[in-house]
Amino acid sequence: MTYNLATLLSDVKAGHRLTPGEGEFLMRTTGRDIFSVTAAADEMREKKVGEIVTYVRNQNLHVTNICKNLCGFCGFGKKATDPGAYCLDRATIQKGVRLAHERKVTEVCFLSGVNPAFNLDSYLDLISAVHEIAPDIHVHAFSPDEVAHAAKRSRCTTADVLAAFKKAGLGSLQGTAAEILVQQVRDVICPRKVTGAEWVRIIKEAHAMGIPTSATIMYGS
Ligand code: SF4
Repeated sequence: MTYNLATLLSDVKAGHRLTPGEGEFLMRTTGRDIFSVTAAADEMREKKVGEIVTYVRNQNLHVTNICKNLCGFCGFGKKATDPGAYCLDRATIQKGVRLAHERKVTEVCFLSGVNPAFNLDSYLDLISAVHEIAPDIHVHAFSPDEVAHAAKRSRCTTADVLAAFKKAGLGSLQGTAAEILVQQVRDVICPRKVTGAEWVRIIKEAHAMGIPTSATIMYGS
């Protein structure tokens, strides 16, 4: 189906919510028409939130680069036996949290490999390691792939894992490992991660429990 760009943008500005087909049409915009799309997006942003910009002071902690997935596009993940492979101990992690806290960071984010040796208890211990140092800091951590991995390693359901994370004080779940949700593309770039459908299922499961999430799509895939 083809759409008229000017009409579509005018409808959106009047409150029409894009259908998936219309969204796809906008993503295919090329040339100078891109400026019309970005101008409309900016207008909507202005209408909805004005000129207020919010942000958090975030500290990423890269707990480990050992990863079971070894995705084709990634230069970070390593096998446990590779040179340069590491896994931080608890004291080092807490030192990082302490430094972050002193710098008035409000959110700690774990960006790490999916370490095959980790189980549910390992992830819970990471949350408590942070909160022992900074009880009020927001922990934004763990991807759907890590949720699935913890469930598999600890022989429980992903709902059990999410409930345990929430009880332990997880502030929000990372939407990383999404990359792109089209399975044909995932099969090429990240075949060992959860499927696109499983990613969506786990994210919805988190939302149903009141755990907020982000979503990180790798643009261009
Ligand atoms: S899961 Fe993440 S860290 Fe591991 S190889 Fe893939 S992109 Fe890299």
